[in-house]
Amino acid sequence: MSDPAELLALARTRGDACLERWERLVALETPSGDADLAAVFGKELAAGLAPTADRVEHPPGPGGDHLVAHWPGRSADAGHVLLVAHSDTVFPAGTVAGRPFTLAEDGDTVTGPGVFDMKGSLVAVELAMDLLARTGGAPSRPVRLLVVNDEEIGSPDGSRLVAAHADGAVAVLGLEPPLPGGVLKTGRRGVARIRLSVRGVGAHAGLDAAQGVSAIDELVDQLAALRAVAAGLPDAALNVGTVSGGTRANVVAEHAEAEIGLRYATPETEQALLAAAREPRAVRPRAVLSARTLSHRPAWARDPENPLAAELVALGGPLGLDLSCGTSGGAGDTNLTGALGIPTVDGLGPDGAGAHSEDEWASLSSLLTRGALLASYLSRD
Ligand SMILES: [Zn+2]
Repeated sequence: MSDPAELLALARTRGDACLERWERLVALETPSGDADLAAVFGKELAAGLAPTADRVEHPPGPGGDHLVAHWPGRSADAGHVLLVAHSDTVFPAGTVAGRPFTLAEDGDTVTGPGVFDMKGSLVAVELAMDLLARTGGAPSRPVRLLVVNDEEIGSPDGSRLVAAHADGAVAVLGLEPPLPGGVLKTGRRGVARIRLSVRGVGAHAGLDAAQGVSAIDELVDQLAALRAVAAGLPDAALNVGTVSGGTRANVVAEHAEAEIGLRYATPETEQALLAAAREPRAVRPRAVLSARTLSHRPAWARDPENPLAAELVALGGPLGLDLSCGTSGGAGDTNLTGALGIPTVDGLGPDGAGAHSEDEWASLSSLLTRGALLASYLSRD
């Protein structure tokens, strides 16, 4: 195992190089779904990983190429460690022109679109591999880095790669930003989006109201029923994000629909809540309901005994990190690996705050320490 003090000291000499790299990755904008920009970014990232990686692949997807990089381990036949990251951000192309990458006067606080979520994390991985190469260390097990390009829209394509590359992994390290204060994530609430559509029977609201079946009335009753189910379950949350339907006040609405967001912290709550949302029963016999699952991430229930987390916390000590763990209210790609029971810890990206907002910032010194932490973990015996 590489010496933690040596890794940290070396990381601290790489500050300027990391800043330059960070600025470069932020300048190459990556809004989810833009295949051309994803290709440019993927090429740049591959170039940064090439000096240390064994090989870099670009599996294609509808939003452009994803990226997978491989490093050999000292013991070749051991199961691999999977690093999970994403290249896309929530910011449209052109954002960086008005809000460029900036280092504050304190010499540590970095701002700009995607610095925290999660371009700093990608720099930290490059740094970790560079540190290992420079200290003559090698990962103890084979390492795979998966960078999907559609995480911010729920990984509609990337999740198949997460599942494929998690197969055979002994540990999964998520590079998402940490909880406030650098706290690691050892559990995540799951989330699903469901579109509930109702078809009623249109009629004149004054003359033939009895002939009609109001799709809107049915929808309102369905939403109230689902709200009651959610209220009766532990750690469940429901948000009706959109509602639409009907045409005018003197017409019994023939159609109505809602997009519903569901969140759940445990598999039990997930099952009960999803069953209620996916198999609604019409209150009005002539109303026709259909529920479509638009996206789904399973609950990753927190295990207080997570041995991977314990290992990372112990490795943080010599690096001056007083790490702790918590549950994330939001979902991500590690929901899948955590739910599969593969030892998983997320939140290994640099400290900061304000993801998805104009106030987004991240810490350079934290990026350097996280790079050393990753190198320390990957090279441990
Ligand atoms: Zn993210």
